[in-house]
Amino acid sequence: MSYRNFINKLISFSLIKKLFKSMRDDYVILYYHGVISDEKFKQLQGPNKNLFVTRSNFIDQMCFLKENNINVISLDELCEQNFKPKKFSVIISFDDGYKDNLKIAYPILKKYNFPFIIYLIPKILSEKPWVWWLELWSQLEKKNQIFFENKNIDIHTEKLKKDLFFLIKKKMKNLKIYDQKVELKKIFDLQKLTDMSDFFLDTNEVKTMITDKLITIGSHSMDHLCLKNFKKEEVFNQIKNSKEFLEKTFDFKIKHFSFPYGQNQDISFYEHEILSKLHFQTSVTTFDYSYKKFNKFYLTRCSIGPNIKKNDFERKLLGVDKILRKIFLR
Ligand SMILES: [Zn+2]
Repeated sequence: MSYRNFINKLISFSLIKKLFKSMRDDYVILYYHGVISDEKFKQLQGPNKNLFVTRSNFIDQMCFLKENNINVISLDELCEQNFKPKKFSVIISFDDGYKDNLKIAYPILKKYNFPFIIYLIPKILSEKPWVWWLELWSQLEKKNQIFFENKNIDIHTEKLKKDLFFLIKKKMKNLKIYDQKVELKKIFDLQKLTDMSDFFLDTNEVKTMITDKLITIGSHSMDHLCLKNFKKEEVFNQIKNSKEFLEKTFDFKIKHFSFPYGQNQDISFYEHEILSKLHFQTSVTTFDYSYKKFNKFYLTRCSIGPNIKKNDFERKLLGVDKILRKIFLR
């Protein structure tokens, strides 16, 4: 039996469930990327599949929150309550600004009156929307064997395609969007890059969305930059410029930041300083720092990817994995 199944089985006993409930944090911040139709999800291949949940799974998850009378609050409310909500609470967040956040997730969240935050990347709002991970995989899928033979790469198996994806990813994490485009054009001999307008929200859509008080927007840095790979000055500019761009474009106070790629394992207090200086109120990461001292600039989030069934979702809300890490890593 896998760890996942074992824990799921364990928490099906009400006493154990109660025990975890008494030990868990006061809140959980969930994070998503895209929410797509079940049909589209079936067609997805490769590592990017992990970025999406199906519409039907998302509905199940939101239903679970509603049925169990779980308090869903905004990040602002969490700050107002000094990170100690009276009742166990859930915060819903989305990274990168996928268009389906508006087309698919929003109507479901609206139905339940659940607030949520979307962390946006100004560079893909101000220019033609484009991200390296979608381009890279689609090129790897498209390219025929001859292309790779010329480059002396064996692309016969899915595994090799994935290996190549992660190899190039390493390089992409050292570059800004402009240079990522140059690099991928070079690797794949491309004249033109893929138009991703259908994948990402545009400024008008964001403007419409934020007229609804349920929605908060935050920054995900100018270029979706892997901050730890860049000099301090660049990091400062990325955070500062993204905040300024979003505030100017949307007339919306930007108080929340999300680290692209989740940030490195070691907490760097330099970014903490920048965020504080620029009057951010929170920053979220994808790593679990909960066993370290509380820090509002490194709030841990709980990732909701594909294949999260109802009992997995419940396990995540009970914070079981987090509690076990806390016990063993303290
Ligand atoms: Zn991201």
